[in-house]
This record gives sequence, structure tokens and C-alpha cells, in this order.
Amino acid sequence: MYLKSIKLEGFKSFADKTIFELNKGITAVVGPNGSGKSNIVDAVRWVLGEQSVKSLRGSNSMSDVIFSGTENRNGLNKASVTLTFDNTDKYLNTEYNILEVKRSIYKTGESEYYLNNTKVRLKDIQDLFIDSGSGTDAFNIISQGTVTDVVNSRPLERRVIFESAAGVLKYKKRKEESIRKLDKTKDNLTSVNLVIDELELSINPLKEQAEVAQKYLELKEELKTNEITLATKDITTINNEYKSYQKRETELMELLEQNQNNTKNDVLENLKLEILKLDDLINENNKKLIKLTEDLADVESEKRITIERTKYEYNNDAIKNNLINLKEEELSITKDLELLNHELAKENTKLQDLEQKLQVKNNELQELNAKKIIKTDELNNLYKDKLNKENKIEILENNILNNDTVPLSIKNILNNPRLTGIHNTIGNILEISDEYLVCSDIVLGASKNFVIVDNELVAKEAISYLKEKNIGRATFLPLNIIRGRKIDSNLIDRLNNIHGYVGILSDLLNYDYKYQNIIENQLGNVIVAKDIDAMNLIAKITEYKYRVVSLDGSIIYAGGSISGGSNKKNNLINLKKELDNTKELLENLENKITIVNKENSRYNNEFVIVKEQYDHINKDILELEVIINSKNKLLEELNNKLQLIKNDINSIESLETNSLDKVLAGIMEKANRIVIEKETLESNNSELLSKKDEYNSEIRELEEQARKKMHEYKLLTNELNNVQVNIGKMNVKLDNLLLLLNEEYSITYEYAKEFYNLELEEDVLRSSVSKLKREIKCLGEVNTGSIDEYKRIKERYDFLLSQKNDLEISMNNLLGIISDMDQIMSEKFKMTFDKVSSEFSKIFKIMFQGGTGKLELTDKDDYLNTGIDMIVVPPGKKITNTQSLSGGEKSLTAICLLFAILNVSVVPFIILDEVEAALDEANVDLFGEFLNKKKLDSQYILITHKKRMMEYADILYGVTMQEAGVSKLVGVKLEDI
Ligand code: ATP
Repeated sequence: MYLKSIKLEGFKSFADKTIFELNKGITAVVGPNGSGKSNIVDAVRWVLGEQSVKSLRGSNSMSDVIFSGTENRNGLNKASVTLTFDNTDKYLNTEYNILEVKRSIYKTGESEYYLNNTKVRLKDIQDLFIDSGSGTDAFNIISQGTVTDVVNSRPLERRVIFESAAGVLKYKKRKEESIRKLDKTKDNLTSVNLVIDELELSINPLKEQAEVAQKYLELKEELKTNEITLATKDITTINNEYKSYQKRETELMELLEQNQNNTKNDVLENLKLEILKLDDLINENNKKLIKLTEDLADVESEKRITIERTKYEYNNDAIKNNLINLKEEELSITKDLELLNHELAKENTKLQDLEQKLQVKNNELQELNAKKIIKTDELNNLYKDKLNKENKIEILENNILNNDTVPLSIKNILNNPRLTGIHNTIGNILEISDEYLVCSDIVLGASKNFVIVDNELVAKEAISYLKEKNIGRATFLPLNIIRGRKIDSNLIDRLNNIHGYVGILSDLLNYDYKYQNIIENQLGNVIVAKDIDAMNLIAKITEYKYRVVSLDGSIIYAGGSISGGSNKKNNLINLKKELDNTKELLENLENKITIVNKENSRYNNEFVIVKEQYDHINKDILELEVIINSKNKLLEELNNKLQLIKNDINSIESLETNSLDKVLAGIMEKANRIVIEKETLESNNSELLSKKDEYNSEIRELEEQARKKMHEYKLLTNELNNVQVNIGKMNVKLDNLLLLLNEEYSITYEYAKEFYNLELEEDVLRSSVSKLKREIKCLGEVNTGSIDEYKRIKERYDFLLSQKNDLEISMNNLLGIISDMDQIMSEKFKMTFDKVSSEFSKIFKIMFQGGTGKLELTDKDDYLNTGIDMIVVPPGKKITNTQSLSGGEKSLTAICLLFAILNVSVVPFIILDEVEAALDEANVDLFGEFLNKKKLDSQYILITHKKRMMEYADILYGVTMQEAGVSKLVGVKLEDI
């Protein structure tokens, strides 16, 4: 490979496009000071990727290389340089025979690189030239005044020249890339391990949960079949019973209605009315009878007096005396009658008064009875309601019991006097306010039932107990081992600024301080967010390293899997709430029943009191009636007596006017008439009385019937109540069974009847249902979502494990590659150093014509990092510090090193800017001779002011500034100089 041309355009003093055609061999560039020769060297370094503005002799920025203008010319906006290489020997690893490498820069500072007109990156250029002996790090381009740098520099700075010569720069670069990759892989591995650690914390509990949930689903499926079959059977049986009760209810209601209709109150009342009418008639007859008796007595007395008169016809004095006596008696009886009538009038008024009172009491009794019936109805309804509520409570309590979250195994451990050092479950030691109930529940999951114990020995003992009894499993947290986990306080500070961040779950719950480690171990790295949006934001900010849960129970697990939806726990809370409500309603109902019962018994008491009053008044009436009757009888007797006396008086007074026989005949006729009339009335009266007796017995019979009916009515009402209570119970049972089918299993009764038939004995099925329910209860809290969740997390976990594995493999591969590269670099470096060192010593002796020049490693055991010392002793001088060498000695030493390198490795082109400036003529010759010998192996471009040097050149170029400040290339002949 060799450099065919350098094209400069706007680069430094080369304002115009200048093409510098080159050939193999030695090309020398000459020209006055400041004409722009060194700018050509800068241009080559620049194209090959030089990034240091300083080494390009700029001041501020790379755009300093753009032609800045002269007095007569404006500055340019762009500079570009193109190097054209002949690569037919494929020295550079590219398919092209001719390779154009171009770099441009704009005033804006923007740089562009091109390979054969294709835009490329700086890295592509660097990769192409690395280890070619012509890159920016190589020793092939020595700028003006820098030749002694290699002598002045520190041992370690010198190393790069040897690395370039050894061709290990590409390995070094690859190693750096590998180390970068290794660091990145390590970082990734750390992140993956962090997530794996975090997942491992939740994966095992989740696995257990998923297994329990799987078992639960299997048991539940079996329970479903059995429960549906039984429920279907029960519905059919209860429905039949229900129908027969309904039939009986209709019958009873009809009977009660008939019973009510059959009560012959109207007949009874009519009879009573008839009796009153009869009493009136009898009274009327009695009055008439009294009158007739009086009349008869008058007639009898008339007859007796008439007969007496015949006896005492001649004794008028006796008659007169008799008359006086009779009138006195009449007067006395009349007075007695007046008194008696007065008394009777008073007693009749009293009787009327009593009858009125009796009517009032009767009304009161009827009113109370009506109230009693209303209250009894009300009580019946309340009792029915109470029964419904009690049934509901029983069902709810059962449901809650089935939802009980503490498995049997844990219960056995907690309440076991044989075990000491057992504290409690995590769930039991936490006091969770309503706000954090849902999210705590989600995060805790099965770990709610982890048992806190004093130490691992207690845990061991409890595990042996569980095994011995074969009652399940439990997880133990020994207080002496478990340590809390916390989120970094810096991260918490950051989270505090996030809207929707609530806190760290362990800080939000209340518990006894002695359990701090346990709670922080379980919940110390769980972040609580206000809602789903805040949860997502926080998870993103924390790079999915922690669990983040929202208050409503959505959760993002470490690693990023998300879980959400409704949860069964809420149902339990609802069930408990409903139970509390129902209990409250039942309590209200019971209070109401007590009140209504009191009211009812008050009405009963009132009824008894009023009934007593009624009976008392009735008794008074009866007694008064007896008195009135006896007084009436007495009245009748006195009236009769009075009538007799009056008759006697009339007879005596009429004796004087009528003839005795005639009178007697008239009297006899009158008496006969009265007797006949009286007999008629008496027979009529006895007829009426017998009729009254008849009515009375009929009334008694009716009242007896009414009593019987009332008894029957009560029996029927009681039965109806019982039937209705049973109907109510069955209604509740049917509702519950239908609810079970609809809500729990989402099927209808008709569907269940068709597909779920009783194939086993009913008893066997019932005991299987109880057994399955027991088994389900033993499982404790079940989170069916954990099956999918476990699957998701397991997939993620496996994926991360395989990623970890891949990362570890790639880390090992990288370490292997690095170690291989170290090996190669060490070997190549050693080999090149040994050769260059030996060449250097030889060339030194030639160039210095004696003396000693040696290269030594500062650390012979570490070829990868060792620096290179130069030990230079010019002839006849003592070993001194290289810094104390003269300028010429330094240049010559550097040239020795250059020649040594050129003898050992291939360097396609070498550009040397006044490297020989400090040499004396003899040494310039040695220098020229050497180049002359080597010019077939490499191409040399020399910038020189030394004519002696120019003589070694195959081609000479001159750089001038014919126009001030603008460099120009011209062909030159040696003779012209
Ligand atoms: P000597 O023989 O003295 O070493 P030289 O021929 O090597 O000189 P250079 O160092 O190549 O000269 O050129 C220096 C000249 O280039 C200076 O005159 C300087 O002003 C000019 N120069 C440098 N940068 C720019 C630029 N960006 N625009 C215009 N001219 C520039």
C-alpha cells in the first residue's frame, strides 16, 4: 500500500484545491519558512482521524483548520482533505484497490468522513487503519519538533508506539470493547439477579398458593356436582311439601271464613228480641189478668156483700161500721201502693242505667277484641319475619365460616398447649385500618397465615407435630432469624415527591414493635400507591424492582407482571356486613315483638278487666230484676186486695138501690164472664212462657254452638299460623337453594334437574358434601388468581433464569476472549519489543558510532501494562538521564527507535517533518542512507530544509506562497535549489 495523492481544499493555508501527487520511494517537500509544508502533515493526520486540536496546531476548535483568509481573500466555510491510497496489495483490509479517504469540516464544527465517497463514521476510518502502522497512534508520522517527544515522554506513554508496531492495538481496542460489554453484562446480571431475588421471595409462597388453589378448584368442582344434585333433590322435595302446605293454607282459610259466616249472631239477636216481645206480651197479659182478678174479686165481694146484706138486712149499723173499716183499709193499701210504685219507678230507672252501662262495656269488649286480633296478626307477621332473619343469619354465618381464612393446621398450632414459643399469625398481629384492608390483603395473601415463633427450634417442633398428626402444613417465621428489609431512603425521598405515593406498607400498619423485623421482612419493600395510575408510575420509576400495590388491590410484582380485578376477600367483608345488618334487623324485630307482645297483653288485661266489669253489671241487673219482680208481685197482691176492698165498699153502698136477687144474678153472670176471660188469658200466658222457655233454650244452644265455633276457630287459626310459618321457612329454604344454584353455580333449577341426577345414596352424598366443605375449609384462604399469577411469575422467573444463564455464559465468553486477547497481546508485544529492542541497540551503535542504547521494560512480568525505559549512553559518556541528552542526541535516539521499528515491522508510508533538523551532516547522511535502503519497503515523505537530505529524494516538491498567505505546490528540481 502507498499514498497516491493528497488533495487539500480550503485546509489551513491551502485555500485553493491542491493535489499532491505521490509515488513510492522518497518524496521531499521543500519551501521557505511558513509556506505551508507542515500543513500537509497536519492534513494527513487530520484525515486519519486526529481529534486533538492542539496537535494540529489549532487554538480553539477543530474548525480552525479551515482557511481563515488573508488580506486579499475571504476565509472559507469548509475545509476538506482527501488521501488516495493504492491498496492493490490489499494491505488494508478492504476490497478496494484504490481507496479514497476524505474528511471535511464546516464552520459550524460539523465533521464528515468518507470512504470512496461513502459517508462513514470516524470509527470506520480508525478501524481500517488500526494496526496498519499508519494510524494516528503509530510512529509513522512525525510532526515538526515532535521527534524528541518519544525520548522525553514517560515510559508508559512510549508504550503505544510498540503496541502499534506489534499490531496489538486492534486487540487492545477489542479488549476495551469486551470490557465495556463485560461491565454492561455485569450490570445486567446484577439487575436480573435483583429481580430474581425479589421474585424468589414471592414465587414460593405463590407456588404454595397456586397448589392450594388448584386443590381448591378440584374439590370445588366435586362439591359443585354433589351440591347441585342435593340442592336439586331438596328443591323438589321441599317444593312438594310447600305445595301441600299451600293447599292446606287455602283449606284453612276457607274453613275460617265459613266459621265466621256460620256464627249465627243475627239469629241469636232475633231470638233475644222475640223474648223481649214475649215478655211484653206476658206483662200485658199479666196486667189484664190482674185487672180480671180484681174484677173477679169485686164481683166476689159484691156477691158476698149481697149475701151478707140479706143476712144483715136489718142491722144497718153493723154495715156502716164495716164500711168505715173497709175504707180505712183501702186508704192504707193505697198508701202502700204509692210507696211501692215509687220504689219500682226508681228501680226501673236504675235497671235502665245498668243496661246502658252493660251496652257500653259490651262495646268496649268488642273494640278490645278487634284490637287483639290486629295485634295477633301483627305478631304473627313479626314472628314470620324473625324466622326469616334467623334463617338468613344461619346461612350467612355458614357462608362466613366457609370463607374462614385460617387453615385447620394453623388453628391447631395456635391453640396448642403442648407447643411453647408460638406467637401468632401475621394476619392476627396486624391492626389494619379500613383504608389499607384491601391492599394489605392482596399483598399478604397466604403469608397472612405465616406463624411467628420464638426461634427455629420452636418451628421444628411445630412441624413435627403437624407431621405426626397429619393435619397439613404451615410456614414459620422465627423471630431470632428473620431480618427486616427496607427500601433505600434515597428512593423513598424520590417517591415522596410523586403524586399518588401513599407509603411503604409496613409503615402504614399498626403492630407490636417486637414484630418489626417480621413485618418489614414481609412488607418492608412493598410500595403503596393511591390508584392504578400512581402504581404504574411508581413501578416505572423504581424500575420494576419492587412490588407496588394500589389501595384498591391491583398489584405490580417485581419484574413487571400485573395482577388486578375483584377479590374474594371483599365478599367476606360484604358477608360480614350483611350479617351485622341482619343481626341488627333481627334485634329491632325482637324489640318490636316485645313491644307488640306488651301491647297485646295490655289489651288482654284490659279485656279481662272490662269483662269483669261487664259480668259485675250483668249480675247487678239480674239481682235488680229479682227485686223488681218480687215488688211487682207484691204490687199485684196489694192491687188485688185494694180491688176487693173497693168491691166490698161498692157492694155495701149499692145494696140499698138494687133488689138482692136481681143483683146477685147480675153478679154471678159477671163473675162467670170474668173467669172465662181470665182462663183464656192464663192459657195464652202459659203458651207465651213456654215459647219463652223454648227461645231461651234455643239461645243457650246457639251460645254453646258459638263457643264451640270459637274454639274451633282458634284451633284453625293456630294451625294456619303454623302452616304459614312452615310456608315461610320453606320459602326461605327454596330461595336459598335457588340462590345457591343461580349465584354460586349460575344454573337454573330446570337445567340442574335435567343434568344432575341422584346416582349415589342421598346420605352418602350429604356426607361427601360435608367432607368436601371441611376439606375446602382446611385449605384456608384460597386465591384462585394465584394459579395464573404463579404461571405468569414462573414464566418470568424461568425467562430471567435463562437470561441470567445467557448473561453468565456471555460473561464467561467475554472473560475467555479477554484472556485470549491478553495472551495474544502479551506474546505479540513481547516478540515485537524483543526485536525492536535488539534492533535499537544495533542501530544506536551505528548511528552514534559507539555507545550503548537499550530499551528496557519497567515491569517484565506484565507485558500488558509495562512501560518502556530508554537507556542511552552516547559514546564516551556516562549513563545519564535521557533528559540531559542534547537536542541532536535526542533526535538521533528517536531516529534510532524509528529505524528499529521500521526494521521489525511493516510501515507502508512514513511522513517525517524536519526530523533531521538537529542532525549534523554526517548523521544526515546516515539518515539518508538508511532511508535509501528502506525505500523499497516503505514510502517516505520528507519535509526538509537540508539540501543534503533533498539529494536522497526521488521527487521534490516545493511549497510557496506566491500569493501572500495562500500555499501553492510547485515542482522543483534539485539544481534549482
Ligand atoms: P517552516 O518551514 O517555517 O516550518 P512551513 O512551511 O512548515 O514553515 P507551515 O507551518 O506549514 O509552514 O505553515 C504555516 C502557515 O500557515 C502560517 O503562515 C499560517 O498563517 C498559515 N496558516 C495556518 N493555519 C491557517 C489557516 N487556517 N488559514 C490560513 N492560513 C493558515
